[in-house]
Amino acid sequence: MRIEILNTGTELLLGNTLNTHGGWFGRQLFTMGLRVARQATVPDGDAIREAFVEMVDRADALIITGGLGPTSDDLTREIVAETLGIELVQDEHALRTLEAFFTLRDKPMVEANLKQAMVPVGADVLPNPNGTAPGLYLPPRINGRSRCAVFLLPGPPRELYPMFHEEVAPRLRALSGVEEIATVSELKFTGIGESDFHHSVDAELAAMEGLEYGYCARMGEVDLRLIGGEGAIVEARELVLARFGKYLISDDGSSMEATVIRLLREKGMKLSTAESCTGGLIANRLTNVPGSSEVFTHGWVTYANEAKNDQLGVPMEMIDAHGAVSEEVACAMADGALRESGADIAVSVTGIAGPGGGTEEKPVGTAWLGLAVKGGETVAQKIYHPRNRKDFKQSASQSALDLVKKTLR
Ligand code: AMP
Ligand code: MG
Repeated sequence: MRIEILNTGTELLLGNTLNTHGGWFGRQLFTMGLRVARQATVPDGDAIREAFVEMVDRADALIITGGLGPTSDDLTREIVAETLGIELVQDEHALRTLEAFFTLRDKPMVEANLKQAMVPVGADVLPNPNGTAPGLYLPPRINGRSRCAVFLLPGPPRELYPMFHEEVAPRLRALSGVEEIATVSELKFTGIGESDFHHSVDAELAAMEGLEYGYCARMGEVDLRLIGGEGAIVEARELVLARFGKYLISDDGSSMEATVIRLLREKGMKLSTAESCTGGLIANRLTNVPGSSEVFTHGWVTYANEAKNDQLGVPMEMIDAHGAVSEEVACAMADGALRESGADIAVSVTGIAGPGGGTEEKPVGTAWLGLAVKGGETVAQKIYHPRNRKDFKQSASQSALDLVKKTLR
């Protein structure tokens, strides 16, 4: 079943409002075993007609959002009815519901709202308990012409989402007849690039019957998405894990930070952090995970040399001799965090985010990570992520969490 989405609204193209409907529909439909074949966004007004004519001819089901309001730029209803050659008539029940909506809120209903009770002959009115604009459903061949099922839905998410679940999903299910839903498996990796997968496993994955796969590269992370029957997914996972298991973050879609928190709980260990260039991002990511309070104790942001010295006991002479971005200082920060917090494991990061401050020996993007474990030897790792400040912080935090994850594993 070919499903297309048409999002209307000038604000979406001006960039004032982020068009979140496309992604949202994609996720909802996927869980129903359906896919979005195409999504288009057009401004209010006549542009809707052009897009509608094209899409209604091609799709089996077309979902249109927005433009059902009372104002002069809300023209979706009119354009759809006119294009399909269906008369709009005032629907008594829709009118009563609209009046009741205003009465309940002690507000007068203005004349502009009347058009929201206009319904194409033969269409279903989809109730909207959260707003004034009812949705509309035009079944296939309502006018003997179009074989496409058309849904007109309100733009605001708080009106749209419930209406989709109540009114649209059951109709789409019936229309599509889809019963079997493919499983999806998401494996996250770090320390390895998309091209490594491409060289190593692409051909073998492509040859697996009933498997659909794809990659998504993020900052310091590659996600591999597997979709298909259970057998195909098991086979694909085995192949990929045999080849790249040591780079795995998680095989159930969990984030790096959630994986670290889970491993800490499993080992019964507590973690603290000593951050310089990441400015607390590692602690922030960890504390975004529910239950982190059981295993995360302290997070220092020691940005100035004096802070590294008086909070974590990093000797000033050491900073003077080796620089704040050095193996020695990274180790001393981790040791200090372990000692001061009483945690079982501590990670530190100190680096040069840029754009200034780089040298030939230590260019922008250089950072040292330190890792101290109770009763163990403190280790350091040099990383190099020459990026803008924000991306640098993200990838440095990713490397630091990866170091903790590897140690715990
Ligand atoms: P409308 O139904 O066209 O009057 O839409 C009203 C409001 O819904 C807009 O001002 C947005 O705040 C929101 N909205 C409409 N379309 C979208 C969309 N595609 N993504 C996110 N919000 C939207
Ligand atoms: Mg609008």
